[in-house]
Amino acid sequence: MSLSHGRPYLAIPGPSVMPDRVLAAMQRPAPNIYTGALHEMTATLFPDLKRAAGTAHHAAIYISNGHGMWEAAFLNVLARGDRILALVAGHFGHGWVATARALGAEVEVIESDGAGPVDPDRLADRLRADRSHEIRAVISCHVDTATGVRADMAGYRAALDAAGHPALLMADCIASMGCDRFEMDAMGVDVAITASQKGLMTPPGLGFAFFNERAAEARRRADMVTPYWDWRPRAAPELYYQYFAGTAPTHHLYALRAALDLIVEEGIEAVWSRHARLANSIWAAVEAWGREGEMRLGVRSAEDRSHAVTSIHLGAPDADRLRGWCETEMGVTLGIGLGRTPPEGWFRIGHMGHVNAHMVLGALGTIEAGLSALSIPHGPGGVTAAAKALAAA
Ligand SMILES: *Cc1c(COP(=O)(O)O)cnc(C)c1O
Repeated sequence: MSLSHGRPYLAIPGPSVMPDRVLAAMQRPAPNIYTGALHEMTATLFPDLKRAAGTAHHAAIYISNGHGMWEAAFLNVLARGDRILALVAGHFGHGWVATARALGAEVEVIESDGAGPVDPDRLADRLRADRSHEIRAVISCHVDTATGVRADMAGYRAALDAAGHPALLMADCIASMGCDRFEMDAMGVDVAITASQKGLMTPPGLGFAFFNERAAEARRRADMVTPYWDWRPRAAPELYYQYFAGTAPTHHLYALRAALDLIVEEGIEAVWSRHARLANSIWAAVEAWGREGEMRLGVRSAEDRSHAVTSIHLGAPDADRLRGWCETEMGVTLGIGLGRTPPEGWFRIGHMGHVNAHMVLGALGTIEAGLSALSIPHGPGGVTAAAKALAAA
């Protein structure tokens, strides 16, 4: 007999749990796309999106997932054959690199060991050697969702400034936005991209690009961009249809409005601190379980860990056995390991977006039950450690 009947819990790192208010906002007839309420509502999205990204500059909305936004970011700032420096801490960083290469960019990679981010000093060294300023852009995932590593974007900006280097700093915030503190302008990021289905709690299908004046300037020499991917009309349309280069994604926009309402009501600072406290409780549980057996956190130091996703090593075949048990017996779906060598032995907990303390404690209690049911060696007291961390916070 399975105990999974009841509301399932999708604890994977995206798509994330959708709030009931977001779901309800989509229950409506097709709106008129030519005039009226949809137009007024769309205009309200931009200030709230920019606040969530920490920027006073430009925002563009696309009908796209994250992979499309990887392309959108490059197409608007690169000319054919440009050189890019990629700071990579996991599978998604490599994915963005592959996109750049497919577009014909010359990409150089500085890679971390996956248990922490690329050190800004390594970036500083490489920039100092680039005296002729051939590197056009430095790219990094703010959070690499495969490893759960959070990069030091402000540290990368400081390295660029110290070297007097003009390269753009570009951040993939697909996992982190609305979860980990990200302040585009204060961190000196020139281009940030994200998507709807993670911290922004909206169904997959919307992508967002934020760009400042330096990036807008780079757009002038970009020579690969096609009309659909051009961010200029999307960010400053003269006619409504230019926001989306065609028909508006009507129901996604209403969903996004509801999700942004939730963020505005809670306050972005409170959203970030909720994610920090929940993440902290998950790490406390994993550390307690890891006192015996194989379990350990993938990211060495707490300040480098994302508050949106946690990657955990358990060893093969136990990681897969545990995930299977949690899903079929308890109704909690955990994330698979991604981009690891060997590929097995890891799982991830998504704790991004519409997640609160009882959900996290439920997921952790489920994992602890699974470890016992499957006789996987582990230290005692993981859930207690998590509860104590929440009580103390
Ligand atoms: C999810 C994710 C992507 C890919 O997004 P899709 O919507 O699946 O294309 C890229 N980068 C990061 C950091 C992500 O978390």
